[in-house]
Amino acid sequence: MQQSNINDLRELAIPEQKLFINGHQVAARSGATLPVISPIDGRQISTIACADESDVDDAVSAARESYQAGVWSKQSPAQRKKILLAIADLIDKEALQLAVLGVRDNGTELSMALKGEPGSAAATFRYYAEAIDKVYGEIAPSAENVLGLVHRQSIGVVAAIVPWNFPMMIASWKIAPALAAGNSVVLKPSEDASLSVLRLAQLCHLAGLPDGVLNVITGLGHTAGKALGQHMDVDVLAFTGSGNVGRQLLHYAADSNLKNVYLELGGKSPNIVFADCEDLDKTAQVSAMGIFRNSGQVCIAGSRILVERSIHREFVDKLTAIASDLKVGDPLDLRNQIGCIANSAQLSRNLAFVDKSIAQGATLVTGGQQLSKDSGGSYMQPTIFDDVTVQMSIAKQEVFGPILAVIPFDDEAHAIEIANSTEFGLAAAIWTANLSRAHRMIKAVNAGVVHVNTYGGADMSVPLGGHKQSGNGVDKSLHAIDKYCELKTAWIQL
Ligand code: NAD
Repeated sequence: MQQSNINDLRELAIPEQKLFINGHQVAARSGATLPVISPIDGRQISTIACADESDVDDAVSAARESYQAGVWSKQSPAQRKKILLAIADLIDKEALQLAVLGVRDNGTELSMALKGEPGSAAATFRYYAEAIDKVYGEIAPSAENVLGLVHRQSIGVVAAIVPWNFPMMIASWKIAPALAAGNSVVLKPSEDASLSVLRLAQLCHLAGLPDGVLNVITGLGHTAGKALGQHMDVDVLAFTGSGNVGRQLLHYAADSNLKNVYLELGGKSPNIVFADCEDLDKTAQVSAMGIFRNSGQVCIAGSRILVERSIHREFVDKLTAIASDLKVGDPLDLRNQIGCIANSAQLSRNLAFVDKSIAQGATLVTGGQQLSKDSGGSYMQPTIFDDVTVQMSIAKQEVFGPILAVIPFDDEAHAIEIANSTEFGLAAAIWTANLSRAHRMIKAVNAGVVHVNTYGGADMSVPLGGHKQSGNGVDKSLHAIDKYCELKTAWIQL
């Protein structure tokens, strides 16, 4: 990857972006648009269409009509596989362009974005393409004179609403299994990260996905998102985002057609370091990146370090040295390791959290400040708070920023008690060389994914889903296909 290529791509003008409905780019019916402000320098780089209820109706109708017509839903799994594989190839071909476009929109450091966005999106389309012609129905173990068949069939119109972090990857985690299963989809990306997702829809079309099978609605959550959530003709709503919005979506479903709602929400994930871990330097290095990559804007970020008291000071010193050495800045400059906070409102929220944590008695060890203010962009120092107690806001609430809370513990039971003390249950990690302890902790910690002696990086073969208030249902793996299929029993008298 050459810096000169990246510099060329970052200067490309981005035309005004439209909605993608029924295979066409169309303006919002009202003509309304929203500015796209880059967190790199605070400058406007384009506009997106600001959809309202009437545009959502158009998109859902296009999806329903394509579903009923069977242009996709009635194609054989092998034919769908062919097109999904072609989509993955086109994503790979445009990987750098897609990554740079996404980074200009949401500020993720480029190396992370390349791997996490086009890289993961292509892998996701490939995974579900390869899976779908291997998913069978069932024959029930019934009596001699009857035959019980269990068909697994597509549901209809799937709506997906996704956040601003890793928009291509998270959108693909939903649309690839939904499409593989034969559904039609309406996707609403975040108003803060729509550009790469709009391009993804065009690539799907270029690869041969029929008109109306994938539609993209851009705009605001409380208008376009709400209209999707309340729509009477949406069968499934798959969401990734905050708990507050997740709650609202459940209300929308209850007030409309009781659509199935799947929620991938936030976390306050404990990263638990025992004194018997194998290599304290490596543990500190991986743990630091487990919170600071993408400026902490990662759902599974290890935002609480629970560390055994006997190594507490030594470990905090190591973390502090790593954090204060990280190069934060322009995410398209390959010399930087950490990029932007996705928007200025989120930066203000992070800084307010710093003030609140100090006021509540936590010790600020490093960071806490905005960086490169003159650039006009949104940057923040990697920040560590020590002497945190479980009652403090920083120990309980998701920040979604580069802020780490360190909490010492006395023994295994104490670590489990602290780990499970929040409303969340998304991810966790255990660092220990003791195999029995690792297995005990995997069972005891309430989280959808428990890492051992690593943080992050789980591939498509395993599910990601939250326990407790971190959500329901899963993305990734064969299990995700279940969200987009329904079972039908045929009971046949012989
Ligand atoms: P958000 O909840 O504010 O927005 C997410 C999406 O919902 C956006 O597209 C937004 O426009 C839409 N939305 C907002 N209000 C809506 C409404 N009333 N009705 C319908 N749609 C509405 O989240 P965010 O700030 O974009 O993303 C950060 C959050 O996402 C964090 O809480 C993070 O933990 C979570 N997240 C979770 C996972 C996971 O897999 N569990 C992954 C990534 C991010």
